[in-house]
Amino acid sequence: MKIAILSGKGGTGKTTLSVNLFSYLDKATLIDTDVEEPNSHLFLKGKLIKEKSVIKHYPKVNDDLCDYCGKCGDFCNFNAIIPTKKKVLVFHDLCHDCGGCSLVCPKNAITYVDKEVGKEFHIQVSENKLFLYGNLTVGEVSGVRIIESLKETTRNEDLLLIDSPPGTSCSTVAAIDGTDYCIICAEATPFGLSDMKMVVELLRAEGRNFGVVVNKCNLGNDEIYHYLEEEKIELLEKIKFDREFASIMADGELLINHSQYFRDKMANIARKVLGDKYDQ
Ligand code: SF4
Ligand code: SF4
Repeated sequence: MKIAILSGKGGTGKTTLSVNLFSYLDKATLIDTDVEEPNSHLFLKGKLIKEKSVIKHYPKVNDDLCDYCGKCGDFCNFNAIIPTKKKVLVFHDLCHDCGGCSLVCPKNAITYVDKEVGKEFHIQVSENKLFLYGNLTVGEVSGVRIIESLKETTRNEDLLLIDSPPGTSCSTVAAIDGTDYCIICAEATPFGLSDMKMVVELLRAEGRNFGVVVNKCNLGNDEIYHYLEEEKIELLEKIKFDREFASIMADGELLINHSQYFRDKMANIARKVLGDKYDQ
């Protein structure tokens, strides 16, 4: 079963939920796909067992062969390759590495070059717990290739938790692709509700099953609960804000090791989301 944990914006407690739920479970794998700002590794100690480069391929045009026919530009849906009268321009950041432009080039003028866009790190937390995170190389603009690589690496895991990037960007779409269930972590504030609605729209458009955990439920108002009721969205759990929680997390500690309240919350979420697969 693949479960993504996501939020409409940063700072809602998504990573807190991800690392604590992962640590609560007896056996699971977690990937942190927030590759621009990974931070789950600050809470999960273990042994680094593998470090892997994530490579992206970019087209390179041989000017001696190219006759500037324009077919590669016509083919590319992302405007990543644009033939002019005397030069073919390639925009690396826009390229999705699909390989199509070389297939349509009648002069065989396009080859591909490798570029490292980031790294994967594999951490063995315990015998039954594997944690992976990705890190985008400084200067690269898209983490999608790294997210795809992390998901490919973990495709056969029985129970996979995916700490998704915040928001509703391409990276989030890549993170939720192929998931069985998504947990939205939201705050009960007007901003929190507004950001959560965008995530709900995305998940509905992608046909995902999902529920909501309202974090810092003692702050904000009741609007979010009315919305969930009207939209018939399952409220999985409400978790209060507590200064002590913030202080424990600031020390890089897991809340389930210090708070029975938080442990009970994780147990309830696990039971609701995993159903029959929950056997702790
Ligand atoms: S399709 Fe090939 S020959 Fe035509 S413009 Fe592109 S690179 Fe040049
Ligand atoms: S590899 Fe695909 S996305 Fe990249 S430039 Fe070629 S056609 Fe466009």
